[in-house]
Amino acid sequence: MPRIEGLTGRVIMEGEPGYEEARLDFNTRFSKFPKVIVYCMNEQDVANAVIWARKNKMPFRVRGGGHSYEAFSLVDGGLVIDVSELLHVKIDKIGGTAHVGAGYRILPLYEALWKQGLTIPSGTCATTGVSGLTLGGGYGYLSRLFGMTCDNLLEVEMVNPWGRIIQASEENHTDLFWACRGAGDGNFGVITAFTFRVHPIGDVAHYNMTWDFSDLQKVVGFWQEWAPYSDDRLTSTLLLHAQDQGAILSSGIYVGWEKELRQLLRPLQEAVPPKTISIRSASWITAARMLAGTMTRHATFKNTSAYVYEPFSDEALSILTHYLSNAPGPSNLVMFDAYGGAIGRVPPDATAFVHRRALIMIQYQSYWENNREESPNTQWIEQFRSAMLPFTRGAYRNYCDLLISDWPTAYFGENIAKLKKVKKMYDPENVFHYEQSIPLE
Ligand SMILES: Cc1cc2nc3c(=O)[nH]c(=O)nc-3n(C[C@H](O)[C@H](O)[C@H](O)COP(=O)(O)OP(=O)(O)OC[C@H]3O[C@@H](n4cnc5c(N)ncnc54)[C@H](O)[C@@H]3O)c2cc1C
Repeated sequence: MPRIEGLTGRVIMEGEPGYEEARLDFNTRFSKFPKVIVYCMNEQDVANAVIWARKNKMPFRVRGGGHSYEAFSLVDGGLVIDVSELLHVKIDKIGGTAHVGAGYRILPLYEALWKQGLTIPSGTCATTGVSGLTLGGGYGYLSRLFGMTCDNLLEVEMVNPWGRIIQASEENHTDLFWACRGAGDGNFGVITAFTFRVHPIGDVAHYNMTWDFSDLQKVVGFWQEWAPYSDDRLTSTLLLHAQDQGAILSSGIYVGWEKELRQLLRPLQEAVPPKTISIRSASWITAARMLAGTMTRHATFKNTSAYVYEPFSDEALSILTHYLSNAPGPSNLVMFDAYGGAIGRVPPDATAFVHRRALIMIQYQSYWENNREESPNTQWIEQFRSAMLPFTRGAYRNYCDLLISDWPTAYFGENIAKLKKVKKMYDPENVFHYEQSIPLE
């Protein structure tokens, strides 16, 4: 057992009560056994943990909400520096900012901001960590109006590789701040707090439309030419369940009146008449709670992503249909997120998040419960992603995938060169490293 002198916060050692739950991330495809998990209560606990890990030559990982697709926030035989209990929030309604502890999860943050009639554009699932999501970009149902989550960042507070607490913003450590907006996940230091620009919000209108699988190509064909170009106040997604596993479903949030949304949806509705349709008004928080769905502590899955820069050709649509008609089950789908709007108005090199000109992000998803289902599902995901490569470009950092061999270019495009420079400047000894961390060279 390692000595824990110098480690402060709530420390859980291997084998101690609470260890079994603490050692798991959201994705139970992974079962790792860290030696120590430290739940930090303040920045000093984080600093002590970084210094302790270095002194004891112990591998370590940083964990926010534990939702990494590849469990990058866990390490066998090492230390997990968990910031999920850094839960302070200070809202300055007049100044339009919120200072948020790195432990917040999405829905609790929406709830805290909503009490003041405010929000940020962020993710959909209730329990995803604000930390990882923001540092890798951050997309959700307000992104076409307000941008990626990282576009709304004003400052990060970070414990650096030497255990010192620094702030990065447009005024201080500007290159580091640039890098943290799209590539800040576990690469340069541990972020302990975020300052966000917040936006007033009240009622919104939301919609759901469904179609049968037989309409798949017609729906995708129309939606891809419509959703990324629609009014910025509308952010729309399209979910394609595999054949016999569910419907084709489009959902979206419009920050405006229901009757305006009805108008905006008419072209889609007329192009491919849906089987069911619902268009309603609700407060933003009611819509966010509804879209977050039921809270699950864990799931077993393999997901990956790709960006669509040009609408899919008929050939691409045929491949899409082929894979969705031949899925291993029990739960396979592809999700389309509409980009454009405020996301696309930021130049690709203005932040580390590079995929500004993409029209759509697609996410290939596969979930199962029995171990024997893992192999056919992971193969299906990888074969599907590979078959679509001629029609897609890059991948989303937050949907990390160990099977993407050219991941630095896929996630960061041309921004990888500057990221390596920032890495050299802020973590020259590569203290923060894991399977897909920014390399020095
Ligand atoms: C169910 C589910 C729903 C999702 N929905 C969305 C969505 O709607 N929109 C979207 O954009 N993404 C979404 N994601 C992807 C999500 O953004 C990423 O998985 C993200 O990395 C999760 O962050 P986390 O803090 O929960 O994860 P963690 O596993 O804790 O961390 C992920 C990575 O970030 C690093 N990291 C975490 N905290 C810090 C910190 N404080 N300082 C430095 N590095 C840190 C970790 O070391 C790790 O490398 C979803 C993921 C899941 C599993």
